[in-house]
Amino acid sequence: IGDSKAYDREVRSVCPYCGVGCQLSFKIKDEKIAWVDGVDGPANENRLCVKGRFGFDYINHPHRLTVPLIRRDDAPDKGLNVDPSNPWTHFREATWEEALDRAAGGLADLRSYYGGQSVAGFGSAKCSNEEAYLFQKLIRQGFKHNNVDHCTRLCHASSVAALMENVGSGAVTATFNEIENADLAIVIGSNPTENHPVAATYFKQFVKRGGELIVMDPRGMGLKRHATHMLQFRPGTDVAMLNAIMHVIVEEKLYDRNYIEGFTEGFFEFRDHIRAFPPERMADLCGIDAETLRTVARKFASARGAMIFWGMGVSQHIHGTDNARCLISLALLCGQIGRPGSGLHPLRGQNNVQGASDAGLIPQVLPDYQSVADPEVRELFRHIWQGTEIQEKPGLTVVEIIDAMYRGEIKGMYVMGENPAMSDPDVEHARQALASLDHLVVQDIFLTETANFADVILPSSAWPEKTGTVTNTNRQVQMGRKAVDAPGEAREDWEITVELARRLGLDWDYDTPRMVFNEMKMSMRSLHHITWNRLENENAITYPCNSNDDPGQAVVFGDGFPRRAGRAKFTPARVTSPAEVPDEKFPMILTTGRMLEHWHTGSMTRRAGTLDALEPEATAALHPGTLKMLGVEAGEMITVETRRGQITLAARADRAIAKDMVFIPFAFVEAAANTLTNPQLDPFGKIPEFKFSACRVIVGEQQ
Ligand code: SF4
Repeated sequence: IGDSKAYDREVRSVCPYCGVGCQLSFKIKDEKIAWVDGVDGPANENRLCVKGRFGFDYINHPHRLTVPLIRRDDAPDKGLNVDPSNPWTHFREATWEEALDRAAGGLADLRSYYGGQSVAGFGSAKCSNEEAYLFQKLIRQGFKHNNVDHCTRLCHASSVAALMENVGSGAVTATFNEIENADLAIVIGSNPTENHPVAATYFKQFVKRGGELIVMDPRGMGLKRHATHMLQFRPGTDVAMLNAIMHVIVEEKLYDRNYIEGFTEGFFEFRDHIRAFPPERMADLCGIDAETLRTVARKFASARGAMIFWGMGVSQHIHGTDNARCLISLALLCGQIGRPGSGLHPLRGQNNVQGASDAGLIPQVLPDYQSVADPEVRELFRHIWQGTEIQEKPGLTVVEIIDAMYRGEIKGMYVMGENPAMSDPDVEHARQALASLDHLVVQDIFLTETANFADVILPSSAWPEKTGTVTNTNRQVQMGRKAVDAPGEAREDWEITVELARRLGLDWDYDTPRMVFNEMKMSMRSLHHITWNRLENENAITYPCNSNDDPGQAVVFGDGFPRRAGRAKFTPARVTSPAEVPDEKFPMILTTGRMLEHWHTGSMTRRAGTLDALEPEATAALHPGTLKMLGVEAGEMITVETRRGQITLAARADRAIAKDMVFIPFAFVEAAANTLTNPQLDPFGKIPEFKFSACRVIVGEQQ
């Protein structure tokens, strides 16, 4: 396989899976990807995980959409009932002209009859920056409102809300590679060996060099083996635990007084608030003894350089914003931002969730997080977008849009590369909402669960079949290059969006992604000094970037924050219960997430031969002691039930799970974890509480 004669050509690009953004080289033989090697990108230095190395044959799967499809007049009622290998009972083939006319015509009819508010859009963190930018522009310009969102709402919306509020920027303050300059790191609510595997290799190397790793999570995941301290706290008690740690730092005056005076505001109110959380009072609640909390506090406060990494175990709660506020306050207390080896780093999930958010695929903000409520911002975009009036009112978020569909207020949707029929909480409700639409346009590479409900399906290109930029968790803008042609008549997403926009009456003349990128630069300070030519030559540039030969800044905010007077803010956080606490009927806690081999709703990885062979079926992980108590062997079928519904799947023994918990990955349609999850939202980030639902386990098949 290493023989250069074994391939015809190679193309350098970026992995399409997680937010680490590993650079790789596609080895092409007979116009197919024969294999993949890691290359020397800034985030991976030649490394790849199992998905990046073996997860690309999905692009050749027989289920690929190769022609546009239109729902047949005599199709059965909309539901999750289409066989992807035989869609012809529900759909018929169409030409691109007919399909685009039908797709745009249906949306335009709704706009004329009910007004622009009757149509909304879900874009995708799997598409390029340019595609995300065009998508949000189409909704804002074509329908005159801000009802456009994407899956950032379901992963780190609460982290971004807290960062914007307290630091003034939603991105990381330091790259994860900066851990090599730290002497202590906290990883909380994140399972990087499964979800950010290449980043996890840097964390393990850090420990080998003598770094102190403190892991905090209700599940004892893979990184536990490398941790100097493992705080397996009770689910949902993050604020209590973190406030107790900060109480010690305040009580023992271990904080960095000079930093607090020079770079922050709100310390005195925060100090008064935190006095109510002594470790001895919080220990029972969070399940961590007071001495351990005190030890961790002292270690963090005495570190020369300390970093905090977090994942969706922090963000996917109704108190997700409060959780992130605590982490920000902890770093501010000890001055651990803006120096080498220090910083805040929410590990972003999807490959381009950072870039799609930066590009404005969010209902409250335009590109670069510029608020729709700011008249100067609206004027800037009115100028760049040839007179388009931007609406002042923030749009609805993902779950709010689903609810508005269910109520009949939103009647048409344009969905590009998202799969809400699998990814949304209380997914039966989401599916009913999709079925109720008058007109649904889905643009994707497979007939996804969401496409089951579509009126028009537009076949698009997989990541190795397109050119465009993406931005990883490190703020590194990277160049993705087309390696192979898309199958059949499938087109790149940006081209399809442009065709729809023209049919909706917009005067768009984009003919390359580069042209879109250049327009983005007109409104996005984050792209200053980053040019298409530079990206073609250098492959990756970190923002912010200070000059045309600057590779960009790995660490930011050493000289102040992009907030009033350059100061970051302490925001006190109260302890709140999860939206649904266990009771007699539902005594256990369900938590959901990803797994190493499968990506999100499984549309790609379940069609990747090696990955699906490694993890072919849905399982629910429980502690062996819990299985024994239930009288169940690993591999036997169990039913997990919440107030939303029940699913049946195989039991899996996992010592890392607490005895009162169940973990189910959400990649398997035959046992869709989101049938069970709670749609209650964090009030600030509007993120659902995927990480905590009260559940019960029934032995055997569905009742
Ligand atoms: Fe791809 Fe993430 Fe794995 Fe890197 S760590 S190869 S970006 S899935």
